[in-house]
This record gives sequence, C-alpha cells and structure tokens, in this order.
Amino acid sequence: MILGALMKRGSHIAVIGAGLGGATAAALLQREGFQVRLYEQARSFERIGAGIHVSANVMKVLHHLDAEHRLSQLGIHPDTFTSREWNTGDVLFELPLGNTGRQKYGASYITVHRHDLHAALLEKVRPGTIEFDKRLTAVRSDGAAARLSFADGSSAEADLVIGADGVNSKVREAVVGPSKSRFTGAVAHRAIYPSALLNGLQVRNCTKWWGPNSHILIYYIEQTRKEIYLVTSAKGDWNSEAPWEFCTREEVASAFEGFHPEVRQVIETAPQLTKWPILDINPIDKWSEGRLVLLGDACHAMTPYMASGAAMAIEDAAVLVRCMLQSDDPATAFALYQAVRMPRVSKVQRISAENTFLRYPTDPAWVFAYDAVTVPLEPPQQ
Ligand SMILES: Cc1cc2nc3c(=O)[nH]c(=O)nc-3n(C[C@H](O)[C@H](O)[C@H](O)COP(=O)(O)OP(=O)(O)OC[C@H]3O[C@@H](n4cnc5c(N)ncnc54)[C@H](O)[C@@H]3O)c2cc1C
Repeated sequence: MILGALMKRGSHIAVIGAGLGGATAAALLQREGFQVRLYEQARSFERIGAGIHVSANVMKVLHHLDAEHRLSQLGIHPDTFTSREWNTGDVLFELPLGNTGRQKYGASYITVHRHDLHAALLEKVRPGTIEFDKRLTAVRSDGAAARLSFADGSSAEADLVIGADGVNSKVREAVVGPSKSRFTGAVAHRAIYPSALLNGLQVRNCTKWWGPNSHILIYYIEQTRKEIYLVTSAKGDWNSEAPWEFCTREEVASAFEGFHPEVRQVIETAPQLTKWPILDINPIDKWSEGRLVLLGDACHAMTPYMASGAAMAIEDAAVLVRCMLQSDDPATAFALYQAVRMPRVSKVQRISAENTFLRYPTDPAWVFAYDAVTVPLEPPQQ
C-alpha cells in the first residue's frame, strides 16, 4: 500500500490511549496543525497513589510544550539521588542533582505525583479532543483509511493511528500479531500518605535502598513535603486481571524484614498500600505497519528500575512528531522514528531489566542530557 504524501498538516490522526505518551503526542501534533482525536478506555482519570521521577530529559519536552514551569514549582527538586545499602544504610552512591544536575543535564530533575505530571500534559491538549470510555477492540487499515472499532459498538476512521495504549496494546496486535505482556515475577508495592504520620522522621530526598532480592524507593512528591511516597520491587505472584490490588502492611513489612529502621518505619506508618504487577514485553523490532505506529509501553514496556518508562514514552512522542513533520510519507517518517529511537530504548530496557542503574558510581548523562526536541533525526552512532 502506498501512503505517500498522506501525512500533511491537517491529516486526521487517532491517538489510542491518553496516558503520558499519548497525551504528549496529541498536544505536540495539535501544535503543528494536525487534527487529533484521542481515544481513552478509562471513564476518567483518578488520582491513584503513585509518584514519578521526571528527569531532565523529560523536562526538556515539557519545556517545549510550555508545561514545565507549573510542574517545576509543584514537584520537589532533590539535591541528590542516593543509593543506600538495605540493612546498614551505608551510602553506595550519591548522584548530585539540584543546581549541579541542572547544569550537567540541561534541565531540572524533579519528583512529583504521577497525576500532576499527567494533568500538566493533558492541559496542553485542546479541550474536547479526548473521548473517554472508548476501548479500542480492533483496528484495520485499508486503502482509504484506518478503521477503529470500540467496545461500545462505535467506530471511527483516521488517516493515521498512533498506538499509545500501553503494555497491553491492542494496536501492537495489529502491527506485530498477537503479543501479550509478561509478568516478570516481581510486584511493586506503593503508598502515598501524609508525612505527618512519620512521627518526625526526616526522610532524605529520593533514596533507593538496595536489598539482595528487593528494593524500595522513598521520596517526597511535593515541595511542601506534605506527602511521602514509597514504591518497591519484591518477588511475588500475580493471578489477577486487575491492574492493581490493595495489600496489607504485614505483607510489605515481611517482604522488607531486616531492612534499615528508617525503611521499616516508613512501611509501618503507611495507612494503605497497593500492589502492582511488574510487566514487560518481549522486545519487538517492528513499530509500525502502514497507517499504524506505536509509542511508549506499547512497543517497549520495560521494568521500572531505571524510572524511565514514561520518560521513553514522552521522548518517543517528541521524536515521532518531528519525523512526521520532516516527511510527508508515513513509511519514511515511521522508519526514521524507529531508527532514531530503538537503540536508545533498547539500552534503557536492558539496563532496567538488570536493575543496576545508579547503584554504584555511574555517569547517567547519556540518559538525562538527551534532548528529544533537538536530537538529530538520524540513526545514532553506535
Ligand atoms: C511501579 C512503577 C513505577 C514507575 N515509575 C516510573 C518513573 O518514576 N519514571 C518513569 O519514567 N516511568 C515510571 N514507570 C513506567 C511508566 O509508568 C510507564 O512506562 C508509562 O506510563 C508508559 O506510558 P504510556 O503512555 O506508554 O502508557 P500508559 O501511561 O500506560 O498509558 C496507556 C493509556 O492507554 C489506555 N488504553 C489501554 N488500552 C486501551 C484501549 N484498548 N483503548 C483505549 N485506551 C487504552 C490506558 O487506559 C492508558 O490511559 C513506572 C512503572 C511502574 C509499574
């Protein structure tokens, strides 16, 4: 099928999934004059208990979208990222952030509530663009258009479709065939709660405690330090279809037995904890097919151990839109996008799976100094 010159500004683009990557793509496309519909399966977005690292490479895309300032005022700017031994608390590595990080990586590094990052991106999407409660069930491409079918029985057409529908992507099935996400054998416990409950304990900014088979990160998510966030990874089972479940404090405390008293106190004062399966996908080497193209977890879901899955989705969106502006031909644009992005996300995927990033002295400039808004649109030199 020849789609040449289909992709002019004004083309109708359907973005499936209004998560972090999909919202970024929609906002950037609209700024460039594309007609965008954003289809999201959720009825609305709730403020679920999760924090997120927004590293300098992400802040550069947010800056380009004029979404950086508000988030930067809200989120906490840790002075360091600190790695500590699980039981003794010995410092294994301390990466300077704050002003030093800003100079080295070209933007701030903050931690925020995930919902606030999402809201900052959605705010840049034109009102009326998102159709909620639209779960894509099938997508088919023929000569004239891409045809979308939704669980509510409705359908739609678009010139091009961006699959930003996460780890269990439906669009991915249309690109590479049946492809399920994979449970990695680890679960993440999460809690956000008032730091007043810590009984005066002063938590250092952004610390990862490294245990033999598990780890826990503890950090604030607002400059006010009113709330504290914990997120773990520990061996576990998952037999549920739900994206997450509540879990008991005893379960988490037993997974982190023997950890430093500071860690135990943070777990033991958490009023409510949730548990999430850690999923990934087998790497795929085809990110587009005809009118369809994938981004973010849909094409490279990874373990969260570099805190970079969302960062990669947001970078993908920025590079994809630039490639679409550079070439009118989707096949050329999508091939260039994949060539620019794949070496980087494959490296991040691999190091995330190893769970070694920043444990010991590391120079992370290759991750944080990257600028998706200006990176040359050519395959990187290996
Ligand atoms: C415990 C944990 C901690 C993490 N911490 C970090 C971190 O600190 N920093 C970081 O960068 N990353 C982190 N990540 C990873 C990050 O959350 C994901 O990589 C990121 O959300 C991927 O963005 P996305 O837009 O590709 O997908 P998502 O954000 O998952 O968005 C996909 C969207 O598509 C919608 N959707 C799905 N299927 C359909 C369908 N059929 N029809 C319509 N809509 C659909 C979903 O409802 C959702 O809104 C973490 C992940 C976990 C599990």
